[in-house]
Amino acid sequence: MHEMALSRGIVEVIREQAAAGGFAAVRTVRLQVGALSHVEPDAILFCFDAVSRGTVAEGARLEIERPPGRAFCLPCGRTVPLGERYDACPDCGGHELVLVGGEELRVKELEVE
Ligand SMILES: [Zn+2]
Repeated sequence: MHEMALSRGIVEVIREQAAAGGFAAVRTVRLQVGALSHVEPDAILFCFDAVSRGTVAEGARLEIERPPGRAFCLPCGRTVPLGERYDACPDCGGHELVLVGGEELRVKELEVE
């Protein structure tokens, strides 16, 4: 399960930061999960709860941001919104697009105590 591995990764990041930063507990974890990342936020919440037990991340609240898909269209010369990874440009209908947003999978911020 993709989300399980991802949740383990998140807990690992928190453990490393706790070791480096010397905090004992995490209150809130802000995650970015891009709309094009094929990761289910609900599944992450569920998995994180399970894998964080007994770690410094236990009891932390997950806040998940969903950055929308965005791509730079070469013919249009600007950034356009993208609903799906292989969608055409909504303005010119072309496919000369460079994905610039929506694939994020990262811990953006930790609120610690
Ligand atoms: Zn375009």
